[in-house]
Amino acid sequence: MTASEARKDVKAGRRPHPVSGGPVVQLPSEFGVFVAQAWTDLVTGIEHLAVSSPIPPVDGKAPLVRLHSECLTGDVFGSYRCDCGEQLAYALEKISEEGGTLLYLRGQEGRGIGLANKIKAYALQEAGFDTVEANEQLGLPVDARCYNAAAQILAELGLHEVRLLSNNPDKQNRLADAGVTVVEMVPTEVPSREQNIRYLQTKKDRMDHRLVLDSQDAEPVAASPSAGQAPYQHEQD
Ligand SMILES: [Zn+2]
Repeated sequence: MTASEARKDVKAGRRPHPVSGGPVVQLPSEFGVFVAQAWTDLVTGIEHLAVSSPIPPVDGKAPLVRLHSECLTGDVFGSYRCDCGEQLAYALEKISEEGGTLLYLRGQEGRGIGLANKIKAYALQEAGFDTVEANEQLGLPVDARCYNAAAQILAELGLHEVRLLSNNPDKQNRLADAGVTVVEMVPTEVPSREQNIRYLQTKKDRMDHRLVLDSQDAEPVAASPSAGQAPYQHEQD
């Protein structure tokens, strides 16, 4: 951004994090062929990844954008405690089909509390607290994520108006605060499961997430060691 743009942002009450982008490389994957670019938040030092479809958005629509918060357990290990891994796969498939960009936002584990604290919150959830109460018990914010770098990366990619792949209205508000216009919210609902239905219900009831939950849809996981125990639950989106 130019100095005058930076001054305008400061005047508007925004505090964009300057970011630095690296080379654009090919990223063929099981979800399609993408291009990838690493971005460094020059305030926090955290490195993020932009994964984009080379296809232009269909029908002149604003591009699809997914801000995906890092979730090691869900994204890498396929944990059913949350729906992050399934949302990541859904978003990549949709972006591969319709064009758009997924920003993989690192440093946002457990809605920004970090991996170790997220696992501590899991322990509290196993003792009966919901995902919001667990963070409160730990003296941690319910949502500590910051989207200033994400908004700046989108701006530098020329994505000022986007269709946001999310069920979380807070992301729409935070992006608007950071100067990116969300022209449409595109839901990313994936099927609920026995292990995450309570977590998803908490997101709907306590965090205003736009979810349509039907326990009839929950996939039974008969062989799971958790069968018969209280359903798991946690964070994110
Ligand atoms: Zn997760």
